[in-house]
Amino acid sequence: MSRLTVLAGPTAVGKGTVSARVREAFPDVWFSVSATTRAPRPGEVDGVHYRFVSDEQFDRMIAEGELLEYAVVHGRNRYGTPRGPVDEQIAAGGSPLLEIDLQGARQVREAMPDALFVFLAPPTWDELVRRLVGRGTESTVEQQRRLATAEQELAAEAEFDVTIVNHDVHRAAEELVDLMGVSRPA
Ligand code: 5GP
Repeated sequence: MSRLTVLAGPTAVGKGTVSARVREAFPDVWFSVSATTRAPRPGEVDGVHYRFVSDEQFDRMIAEGELLEYAVVHGRNRYGTPRGPVDEQIAAGGSPLLEIDLQGARQVREAMPDALFVFLAPPTWDELVRRLVGRGTESTVEQQRRLATAEQELAAEAEFDVTIVNHDVHRAAEELVDLMGVSRPA
């Protein structure tokens, strides 16, 4: 048996970038593939980045109890963590990691209070705004929506076991795997 780790934090803090770094440098970490009703972005592969599903398929997954947690993120699409693969990883002694939003993290805490909850924080609020605007993938309306979400999410830091400040993606990734007890490749 091993322990599940949940990584959450405000929008645009760099969760995706830190996760990508962990994927690249620490192959012993197992990433949950979330189901989502959002459309794929260019370059995203079904079954790798997400399982892209219809609203009906998502409803069915909820009804059949297949999701460990799920939430509407940024007031739009639904995202959820398939439960089976996570349970298998824990039973097999793997090092499973969920990169999810705050609502999802709260649900996991109810279901699996022994998991390790890690909050990824921006160095400052201004830096968070700069990253969100700088990413350039969202419209102004969407940016405002995400900033409003981020403000609420920042206030939740105290609910977490530990905070990593994302000054530098490589350092943040190393801090995360160290907390998970995953050995670094030589
Ligand atoms: P994006 O659409 O940019 O890939 O992700 C938007 C947000 O959804 C991110 O904050 C990400 O952490 C969150 N997210 C991704 N997968 C899940 C999931 O399975 N459950 C929950 N609750 N949030 C998720």
